[in-house]
Amino acid sequence: MGRYVIVGNGVAGVTAAQTIVRADPAAEVHIFSAESYPYYRRPRLWKFIAGKIEQGALYLLSSRPKSQRRIWSCPAVPPTPARSLLPHSESPGRS
Ligand SMILES: Cc1cc2nc3c(=O)[nH]c(=O)nc-3n(C[C@H](O)[C@H](O)[C@H](O)COP(=O)(O)OP(=O)(O)OC[C@H]3O[C@@H](n4cnc5c(N)ncnc54)[C@H](O)[C@@H]3O)c2cc1C
Repeated sequence: MGRYVIVGNGVAGVTAAQTIVRADPAAEVHIFSAESYPYYRRPRLWKFIAGKIEQGALYLLSSRPKSQRRIWSCPAVPPTPARSLLPHSESPGRS
């Protein structure tokens, strides 16, 4: 099982996570973001602000039961340098 860390939970980060899980169904992917929300669909924001949809309809990943989740969205506030999320043995420049 591969363990992966992605920094940024916009569409780029989430698409990368979904691609990893498709290629390696046993993978565990942790997405760290400066935002305290899980991935939300930006194009739907206006509908939420206008009161046309509930907040939950903005989210894609959190609706899955925990037992089926392979992708975890983790708030990392303040913004976290990607290097600091790697185990020491995987940090660039260390042996
Ligand atoms: C209201 C709204 C409506 C939109 N509607 C459309 C649309 O209809 N069609 C369309 O094509 N596009 C639309 N867009 C644009 C589209 O959402 C963006 O092109 C897309 O979000 C870019 O995705 P991204 O993953 O590259 O970056 P972002 O969505 O900006 O995601 C980057 C993420 O990384 C996090 N981050 C950055 N640096 C760090 C760090 N150092 N540590 C931790 N986390 C970090 C940020 O907090 C953010 O969550 C819309 C945007 C908005 C705001």
